[in-house]
Amino acid sequence: MSPSESRVRPSRVRSHHSALGRTPSVRGGRRLRPRCGPGPNFLRAAIDEARQGLVEGGIPIGSVLVIDGTIVGRGHNRRVQNGSAILHAEMDCIERAGRLKAADYRGSTLYSTLSPCDMCSGTALLYAIPRIVIGENRTFQGPEDYVRSRGVELTIVNDPECMQLMREFIAARAELWNEDIGV
Ligand SMILES: [Zn+2]
Repeated sequence: MSPSESRVRPSRVRSHHSALGRTPSVRGGRRLRPRCGPGPNFLRAAIDEARQGLVEGGIPIGSVLVIDGTIVGRGHNRRVQNGSAILHAEMDCIERAGRLKAADYRGSTLYSTLSPCDMCSGTALLYAIPRIVIGENRTFQGPEDYVRSRGVELTIVNDPECMQLMREFIAARAELWNEDIGV
């Protein structure tokens, strides 16, 4: 077993499920839908992650993974901070969520401040994450049509704050941004 395989966080998953068990899903005969749509709080959390990355000297892209209204993983682009080739925000987020069951991914929503690239979209497809909420796709657009063709529901918010973060960053550090997207 590799060190990464041993890094399991079952307690987080268990507590998530036990919390679900305590929460009544039916009230007054009406089934309450869990909050996994484009909730502003979750995009807000992703933006907070992006801003944290900026403070660290990194690329301001953030991501959170949400299951049944609970953030189970959060992360931001750490290519600069960690000297990493692969730690885009979504990868960092999914990595930090730890090992989850297939059923957990299938009930999850991935939030990202920027349209996921080939690598991050591929990871979302691998784990069959069914919904992705995208802060903006004007600075950069990943393979959205292909991801949709695989049955993933994409919500494009085009949030002004997400766009401004990237606009200002690219104006100041174009070389870091080009490196991030392999240009
Ligand atoms: Zn990516």
